[in-house]
This record gives sequence, C-alpha cells and structure tokens, in this order.
Amino acid sequence: MSIVVDPVGAAVSTEVPRPSAEVDARWLRRAVGLATANVADGGGPFGAVVVAGGVEVAVGQNRVTRDLDPTAHAEVQAIRAACRAAGTFTLDGMTLYTSCEPCPLCLAACLWARLDRVVFSADRHDASRGGFDDSAFYELFGRDRGTWDRTRVDELRLPESALPFDAWLTHAARTDY
Ligand SMILES: [Zn+2]
Repeated sequence: MSIVVDPVGAAVSTEVPRPSAEVDARWLRRAVGLATANVADGGGPFGAVVVAGGVEVAVGQNRVTRDLDPTAHAEVQAIRAACRAAGTFTLDGMTLYTSCEPCPLCLAACLWARLDRVVFSADRHDASRGGFDDSAFYELFGRDRGTWDRTRVDELRLPESALPFDAWLTHAARTDY
C-alpha cells in the first residue's frame, strides 16, 4: 500500500481495491489444492499462488525433501517463479495466496519481494499439528538469541566489517533494492 498527499494536503490512498472474500477464497482453494496434491508428489503439504490483477502469475509447492533444499518452501518457490515470469525482483502490486500462514522465512521473503498483500488459510498451529516448526520459530524470534536452544548465533565484529557496505555505497552503478 502507498499513500500520496494531494496538492491540498489530504492523504489519498492509492491502494488497489481489495478483492471480495469470494475471490480470495477461490485463490486460496487453488493454493490448498496445490498443497494437497504436493503430498502425493513427494513434497510437503504447502502450496502458494502469486496473483496480479486477478491473473495467476506463478505457483509454488514445497520442495524441501524432494530438492534437498530447506528453503524451498511453497511461498519462496512461488516468489522465485513469479519474479522469473515477470522479469523483475520485486512483486509490488501482487498478492500471494498460501495454503498456510507463512513461516518467518517466507514472511520475510514476502517483505523482500515487496508484495502488496499475503492471504493465508491454515495457520501456524495447524502446521504444528503436522509436525512443522512454524510456531516454534515464531516463538524463538520473540526471545533473546542467547536463550535459543538451537542454531547458536554469534556476532564477531571485525575492523573490516563495514567494508562491503562502503563498497556498495560508493558503487555508482549499483541496483538498489
Ligand atoms: Zn516458509
């Protein structure tokens, strides 16, 4: 969503009108169908669809075990496919429909992709029932890293820590994102 201010100073929303609940439900059913079908296909029970202007841009299904890729979540797969299809690295103006509430990885991917909107069906507690860590990871992110019982995260500042950003900021031909 973006807000612009008109010449007389009144804030005007430029947000694209939200589709009806029926339209949202139709796209969610598409995502849920992809998720269910993916189980028989050897993947995890997750599916996602990226939609722009009422048109399907790309779909994604969980491929973690099939592709030996722990980041191959349905939403990430859909975002990658949508970017390839659209020839861009941002999906602003688009909506991602997903069979289940995005995990922290996927929610961050949605933010990085600048999606306008995310709509999900099942939630993190449903995912827990399936044996998935979505809820546990959300809980973890709410805690101090020093208390984490998995994947220790350590910071070690080096004198050259800032050099990559210095190089980036002085690189005139960089592509901001
Ligand atoms: Zn995920």
